[in-house]
Amino acid sequence: MKVLKFGGTSLGSPERMHAVADLINKEEGKKIVVLSAVSGTTNTLVSIATALSKQDNAEAGAIIEKLYDTYQVYCKSLLHNSASFEKGLEIVENHFSVLRAMDKSDYSVDVEKEILAQGELLSTKLFVTYLEQEGVNAVLLPALEYMRINDANEPDTPYIAQHLKQLLSQYPEQELFVTQGYICLNSNNRIDNLQRGGSDYTASLVGEAVKATEIQIWTDIDGMHNNDPRIVKHTYPIPRLSFDEAAELAYFGAKILHPSSIRPAQHANIPVKLLNTMKPDAAGTIITADIDPERGFTAVAAKDGITAIKVKSSRMLLAYGFLRKVFEIFENYKTPIDLITTSEVAVSLTIDNNTHLSVIKQELEDFGDVEVHTDHTIICIVGNMPFSKVGMLKQVLDAMNDIPIRMVSYGGSKFNISLLIDSEYKAETLTRLNEKIFGQQR
Ligand code: ASP
Ligand code: MG
Repeated sequence: MKVLKFGGTSLGSPERMHAVADLINKEEGKKIVVLSAVSGTTNTLVSIATALSKQDNAEAGAIIEKLYDTYQVYCKSLLHNSASFEKGLEIVENHFSVLRAMDKSDYSVDVEKEILAQGELLSTKLFVTYLEQEGVNAVLLPALEYMRINDANEPDTPYIAQHLKQLLSQYPEQELFVTQGYICLNSNNRIDNLQRGGSDYTASLVGEAVKATEIQIWTDIDGMHNNDPRIVKHTYPIPRLSFDEAAELAYFGAKILHPSSIRPAQHANIPVKLLNTMKPDAAGTIITADIDPERGFTAVAAKDGITAIKVKSSRMLLAYGFLRKVFEIFENYKTPIDLITTSEVAVSLTIDNNTHLSVIKQELEDFGDVEVHTDHTIICIVGNMPFSKVGMLKQVLDAMNDIPIRMVSYGGSKFNISLLIDSEYKAETLTRLNEKIFGQQR
């Protein structure tokens, strides 16, 4: 079994949907196709929920009707056979009646999540109708019947495997299945989701559950690049990545993959291919357990919106248990820490979620002087960097030259050097690293 995931831009127009169908037909054997919502839809659904949360039901209603019109047009050009067209319209009608009903209700988190789920429900049902029109037999696997998160908001993997296998066993001869990315049920049996960009995570969880031979993530770029192509001119796709390298890059800002999506594939040791629907013959990137011993630097990624917190205390000197007490505060407020550096009398760390920043700061003040700096960026340099390869850190620092660095983290793993800088230096830092450590033109 293979898992093939297609993102929103691959479904952005009826022509793109045709191309996706062709790609699927070319792939031999059994496969599960995971789809995102049509591009732009989830953002629009978010704006409907936002309007409702501001009690602006008129605005929510207007956005719903505008989106409804685009789906009418979409159906018309996708479904030319009249029976399929009728079916498509009925699907659209059903999901928009859910949205219109929401627009009459008061905002709640559950209402918001139900609104957000409509995008993937629409795209998968319209796609299956389109395949039917083209004479391709596909079975829709409703994600809400097998995808589930537990009360810690983590995927409930035994439940997912059991329920997905049960569903699949009803169709022993079936070759092609289609399912929704992103959406799931939570431990209260309410509709929920795997966070924005979560369809990649669905693909990987499905792959792990069915022990797939391969997971293909189809996007609109030819694989993971060595640097951010939106900021730096001369970037190139990386043919091979290890799971560890890919996980670091996805976590620290490479937008091509959802940050959690590598873990299930790595756990089940399933190769992940990043491929481009616009250039299906391009090699893309293959992610496996193998580490290329010859390689030095692999890629660099940047994560914005970082806050640095420094706690300085003479009580830290020669004391034990100090760090535990500091970390406990972050744990109590469910705020993950990304980077840490320490000296004898101070600890600096970074977070990317400022929801509880002011109370965290207040509680930290019991331990000493606290400094907070917002609007920072983590630059994450990934590669094969065992300690025996002398000089790699120097090369990075030389490239930085006169750019101020607030924190450096090296030695946490063999695969990563992280720098914390003020966000205003991000573009220059990425450009310089591209020049100095990847040998590219400016
Ligand atoms: N449609 C969802 C989003 O836009 C999930 C995904 O595309 O992966 O975030
Ligand atoms: Mg995505």
